[in-house]
Amino acid sequence: MASTPELQHTVGKTASLSGTSLHTGEKVMLKLHPAPADHGIKFKRKDLQDEPTIDAKIENLKTVERATTIGEGSVRVHTVEHVLAALWAMGVDNAVVEMDANEPPIGDGSAQAYADLVKKAGVIAQEEPRKFFDVRETMHVESKTGALLVLLPDDKFRISCTQAGPNNRFAQFLSVEVTPALFEREIAPARTFVFYEDVKPLMDKNLIKGGSLENAIVVRGEAVLSKEPLRFADEFVRHKILDIIGDLALVGRRIRGHVVAVKPGHAANADLARSITREQTRRSAVAAPRTIPSGGGGLDTDQVMQILPHRFPFLMVDRIISFETETKCIGVKTVTINEPFFQGHFPGHPVMPGVLQVEAMAQVASILLFKLAKTTSRIGYFMSADEVKFRKPVLPGDTIFIHAELTKSRGERLAKAKCHCVVNDAIVSEAELMFTFLDK
Ligand SMILES: [Zn+2]
Repeated sequence: MASTPELQHTVGKTASLSGTSLHTGEKVMLKLHPAPADHGIKFKRKDLQDEPTIDAKIENLKTVERATTIGEGSVRVHTVEHVLAALWAMGVDNAVVEMDANEPPIGDGSAQAYADLVKKAGVIAQEEPRKFFDVRETMHVESKTGALLVLLPDDKFRISCTQAGPNNRFAQFLSVEVTPALFEREIAPARTFVFYEDVKPLMDKNLIKGGSLENAIVVRGEAVLSKEPLRFADEFVRHKILDIIGDLALVGRRIRGHVVAVKPGHAANADLARSITREQTRRSAVAAPRTIPSGGGGLDTDQVMQILPHRFPFLMVDRIISFETETKCIGVKTVTINEPFFQGHFPGHPVMPGVLQVEAMAQVASILLFKLAKTTSRIGYFMSADEVKFRKPVLPGDTIFIHAELTKSRGERLAKAKCHCVVNDAIVSEAELMFTFLDK
């Protein structure tokens, strides 16, 4: 038996947090807002004209020096990894992170403040199933700096990480299964750390204006300098795991796999995120197109239009590709961005209206009935639509396979049909339709 799918989640309400940004030292107000299913996580620059948003996607990655920066056009958001880690690890798939600066507040250098913020906002389930990336074959990335990340198949999201500083000082190892509770307790409080020899040149150049012992641990030789003592004996490796979670959130899908990381850094993490996204694109490209048979047992557009009275823009079936039996057939509709309904449904966010999918099912079912009754001198009218479910959004570029089966036809006037629409091998909508036929 198939288990119920995991659902997408967003935050329950808006929650805000203010503080100082690390690189510019400016005051910043961050607000976390709920967002609809399939929205993903987007950053919004409230301080700029038109308030541009940037998708937290690997395609928008700009730089990985010391922190992860994303951007679109000339707009940038720096140091996104800690807030992303908190959102992702605590189960938030969709949210708007609004800021009035180019960087979130650095807090104490950990993700604690963001984890608290997510809890304050609450996490609520949405209707759509979560998107996953299942690791099927081992993948790996390596960098010249000695970072190595291996991704292995696993039914959970796990990270096993080894961290070591210059001359292998402070070598630490930790292996965890990333869950909201584990993250909150064991990972979120782990602070950023820097080795003195690495930050001295930056401090000299005044590149980290907001930086202080308040928001990072500084390691000088064997000494650990920080405002408060270490929160964990292995705090450094925990922070490395935090950064991996945040950087891999840029994949935009939940990863089912085991990350084995040796001396990871933002550059290597981003490389892995890129490899995963490439693999996902390859998989989708293989899954999407299908050979649509022509001629033979189906009906072409012309024949469909001889049977159905519907015309543009209300003809919702391009072709019938096969009749399995007299009472069962499959129609196909290719949805393009030129569909008139996309103009208003919705501007900037095109989704095919569910009711039009029901209409498509009704049209395919009527073809069955007209063929059975061997007449086209009638028009079908909807009497009811039951068990209607919309499972996934239908987007421009999708090809809908409309399956219809007549389950009951009383006389030649009344019919019942069980229908569903399929895109990329997944059911996107379904309904049980009843209609009556009246003479034209
Ligand atoms: Zn970090």
